[in-house]
Amino acid sequence: MADKYQQFTTTPLGKFVTSKLGLPKPPVLRRYRPGQPPLDGPALLGAAPDGRLEKALTAQLDAAGIEIVRAPADGKRYGALVFDATGITEPTQLRELYSFFHPVVRDIAPSGRVVVLGTPPELVEGRERIAQRALEGFTRTVGKELKGGATSQLVYVADGAEEAAESTMRFLLSAKSAFVDGQVIRVGAAGTKTAQAPADWAKPLDGKVALVTGASRGIGAAIAEVLARDGAHVVALDIPAQGGELSAVANRVRGSALQLDITASDAPQRLADHLTQRHGGVDIVVHNAGITRDKTLAKMSESAWDSVLTVNLAAQLAVNDKLLADDVLRENGRIVGVSSIAGIAGNVGQSNYAASKAGVIGMIDEAAPRMAERGGTINAVAPGFIETQMTAKVPIMIREFGRRLSSLAQGGLPVDVAETIAWYANPASAAVNGNVVRVCGQGFLGA
Ligand code: NAD
Repeated sequence: MADKYQQFTTTPLGKFVTSKLGLPKPPVLRRYRPGQPPLDGPALLGAAPDGRLEKALTAQLDAAGIEIVRAPADGKRYGALVFDATGITEPTQLRELYSFFHPVVRDIAPSGRVVVLGTPPELVEGRERIAQRALEGFTRTVGKELKGGATSQLVYVADGAEEAAESTMRFLLSAKSAFVDGQVIRVGAAGTKTAQAPADWAKPLDGKVALVTGASRGIGAAIAEVLARDGAHVVALDIPAQGGELSAVANRVRGSALQLDITASDAPQRLADHLTQRHGGVDIVVHNAGITRDKTLAKMSESAWDSVLTVNLAAQLAVNDKLLADDVLRENGRIVGVSSIAGIAGNVGQSNYAASKAGVIGMIDEAAPRMAERGGTINAVAPGFIETQMTAKVPIMIREFGRRLSSLAQGGLPVDVAETIAWYANPASAAVNGNVVRVCGQGFLGA
């Protein structure tokens, strides 16, 4: 589903006009189809001396069906360039990045992947801390330089969490991460014991119950579809006014529909009762429901402020408190918040929305240690410009800027947000806790 400008650039006239005027040519991103190979070509695997991830990475790429090559060859196109930088303990050793990537960075296939792996800087000291922190500037820049829909990420893997990075590598080295670019992800040591590879990687959520709020349309409907594709029974929730569309989504994913306004004072109790009585609990909670009531601060009404903060933050906190206090969220449970780039960078006319979405990031920071104690996780996605009814209402010029001002020069699709959430929900992602990953095509806003 390309936007109109993107479609135009693929026509003979469009090709002519865009090259004459030097206009952006948004690449067609490779997206996940069941049964497709994860990458369009082999992965070139490299490491700085004394890296500690070589063994785990080899096993993980092998298991994912990715061909590994260890030395560059002339004329070869790579599906991915993967570099273990955990051996870099001195800033001078950053030269290893140049030595590995410089000769081959042009040989990456369309929609290819760059993944650099390091040690979380906050867990090491002295010069190693400085050198590891430097990896961020490198990977983010490579993301901005890559063409043809290729992306670049940094994964910080804590000492002892090597095996627990499998779900993250599978996600990043596949078309599921099409619109995730320039991100820094942490795989921690907590949760490594509960991380469990699913029996079938095509159905990792078999037997799980997932609640998705705001599921009648847009991003929420896509989340319901992807979690159901991965094997979960989805409880799709939305306000009664959306009842018709909600039933359609619930039927499509063979899940169940729950009409409920999450801001109602009895909503946490009714939700807890529903999940316990019908399903014996819940494994995955996705707080996707959200609203905007935009006005600059000087013109904003009290009700616009209150309703946004209530739907986007307060109601979610009340639901979490109830589901955790009554153990409705099962052991090894997952909570996923939906933040926004507006919550990271701020946005004119959205002081209420940005406060609520930054609050979602606060919710992740606050609850991550508590979730780890229960063997669970809490993480958030921060979508950038995603093609939905919400963004279709944005004035045309702002909409075009939102789309083109990113490394991938286009808006994302709801499925891109959904795939990222499915990675968090995977039972093998127990060591992925407290992350906020932007699904924004490395949007220049909020960078
Ligand atoms: P949308 O408006 O299409 O869908 C939101 C859904 O939430 C609607 O179905 C709505 O009925 C439901 N909802 C609203 N209030 C509710 C309540 N009180 N109780 C239960 N359900 C309620 O929006 P979308 O574009 O699909 O966005 C989904 C989420 O992603 C939101 O949290 C939004 O803030 C966030 N987001 C979207 C974008 C984007 O580009 N579309 C960017 C950043 C963040």
